[in-house]
This record gives sequence, structure tokens and C-alpha cells, in this order.
Amino acid sequence: MVQSKNQEVIKLKKLKVFFSVLIVITLLAGLFWNSQKGGKGIETTEFLFDTICSITVFSRDDQAAAKDAFDEAARIHKLSDFFDEGSDVSKINNANASVPINVDESIIDMIELANEINTASNGAFNITLAPVSALWKFDAETPIPPTDEDISAALKKSARERLNFDKKSGTVKKAFADTKIDLGAIAKGYAADQAAKVLKNAGVKSAIIDFGGNIVTIGKNPKSPDGKWRIGLQTPFASSGEYSKILKLDESSIATSGTYQRSFEYDGKLYHHIIDPKTGYPAVQGFDSVTITAKSAALADALSTAVFVMGEEDGKKLVEEFGSSLEIL
Ligand code: AMP
Ligand code: MG
Repeated sequence: MVQSKNQEVIKLKKLKVFFSVLIVITLLAGLFWNSQKGGKGIETTEFLFDTICSITVFSRDDQAAAKDAFDEAARIHKLSDFFDEGSDVSKINNANASVPINVDESIIDMIELANEINTASNGAFNITLAPVSALWKFDAETPIPPTDEDISAALKKSARERLNFDKKSGTVKKAFADTKIDLGAIAKGYAADQAAKVLKNAGVKSAIIDFGGNIVTIGKNPKSPDGKWRIGLQTPFASSGEYSKILKLDESSIATSGTYQRSFEYDGKLYHHIIDPKTGYPAVQGFDSVTITAKSAALADALSTAVFVMGEEDGKKLVEEFGSSLEIL
């Protein structure tokens, strides 16, 4: 999720063509949903977390709830935005060592889960990788890989600690002033969970949330005779809606991490956005996407990134530990 500042212009351009590229970007996000009878419910979309986010409800009465759910997602986006100087993440990133930093409960929740996955993945998942991630300018017009020197300098500031937090006082503390965090691997999933809570609290019986491939399904699919939701796993690098597998699911949370979601080619080599904390370079695997079904979208989001770094064998063990399931393409 980390991108260079000068990409704000590109972001604005993206917003302008927002509706016309909706379908393409949704497919690039790696997942789609559909219903057997072809019905689509009432879909609302917003551009958050640098991607297309959609909420589909199946009753006209539920549209106000969808708006409230988006308000909550937008709040989480604002709190976790690496580039917004006013965000809680920037507050943490700009703070000195040993100072308690007051942050929203949602930030503490994300840090708590990130720490848990960091331990369980033996450091493969690490939100303090931000100084390294920030060197990779995936949205630049002509992206080039950072130098080995830049990477090793940034690695020294990265992935060397987990953040301490205190839930009671709602504070976070850093051990080093130059530690920075990036919640890009977990925030979309967390926001999808929060949006689902808002919908459920409002009594919504049937809905699907898709925040850039981080999906939560609520209740039964009213358009399908068996009530199941069909989630298609995009064939990596396929130019259009080509799916390698269709998952048939009840109420669930699903996330995909893929090389094709944010990447560039340089000198005939593909560089993608999931970074191995051991090297500072994109994780090298014999696959291009990992899809996780888990008990929450935040967990699925974090696990999909972690498994991408760990590889299939260790990744399977990690996923089993969390009672989740895994698809690798
Ligand atoms: P995702 O699409 O959920 O796999 O998240 C990828 C994003 O998370 C990247 O764009 C980075 O901002 C960040 N990231 C990259 N590598 C890691 C890692 N090893 N651990 C945690 N976050 C990462
Ligand atoms: Mg993730």
C-alpha cells in the first residue's frame, strides 16, 4: 500500500475514470463474486485504500446501512493512511521513541493481530517493513527497483521489533524513533470486517462486501437456490475475467494476495509488492496468488500476505494453526 507522494496526481486521475474502469480494476483485484441467477443486488462503490471498494445489499431498505458501513470504512482508511499526515499511522511513524502515542481502537486492533501473525509467521509478516516497502514505487510512470544500498539501509530500520501497545490507555509505544509502520497488508480486511459489523447491526440479512479483493459475505446469497456465494479466483495475469477456480461459500471472509495486483517489469524481471523481510526484495515463489478463507477478513488479509512470503509448505502449517483454508495459484 505504500506509494510515493508524487503519485497523488495519478490517484486523482484514477478517481476521474473511476466508474469507467470499475470492472477492469475489480478483476485485477483478483476476486469476483456472482450469483447463479445473475442478479447483482444494489451495489455502491467508493474509492478507498487506493482501490475500488464495493458493498452490495439485496434490499432497498438496506441502502442507508450500506452508507453507514462505507462511512466506517472511510474512517479506518483515514486513520491508517500512510500518506495522510493527520492519520494515526503517521502519528506513530513521526513519533519519538518511548513516547505513548494515543491512537484509535481500530489501530490497536490491527497492531495486535499484526504482532500475532508476525510471531506465528516467524517474521514473514511484518508491518514495520514500511521503510523498505516505501522504496518500491509501483505506481511510478517508469518504475525502477531501488538499489541494494538503499534496501540494506532501509532494512536496518525495518522489521526489527514489534510495536508495544496498551489497550487500556489506547496507546502505542516505539522502541526506536525511526521505526515506521504500514498497515497495507491488513487494513482493507479489517475495514471489511468493520463494514460487515455495521451492516449486521443494522439488521442487514444478505450482503457482500468487496474491498479490493478482501471479501466478506453476509447471510445467504438470495440469488442462488442453494444460498451459497460464488467467489471466483482470477487466473493470475489473465487479461479479463478468467477464473481458475470458483469457491462455493456460506457466510465467510476471503482475501487474496497476488504478484499481479501491484507490480512492474524491469529488465525483463517482474517486481511485485509483497516483500520478504529477510531480503527487502519481492518474495520469490513458484506461484502468483494466495487466497485465504478465515474467520475474519483482517485475519485472511494478514495470512494471505504472510503465506505469500513463507511459501506453500510453511504457509499451509500457518493457515492450519488459524483454522483457515488456502488456495494457491
Ligand atoms: P496484501 O495485498 O494484503 O498482500 O498486502 C501487500 C501490502 O502490504 C504491500 O503493498 C505493502 O504495503 C505491505 N507489505 C509488503 N510486504 C509485507 C510483509 N512481508 N509484511 C507485512 N506487510 C507487507
Ligand atoms: Mg494482506
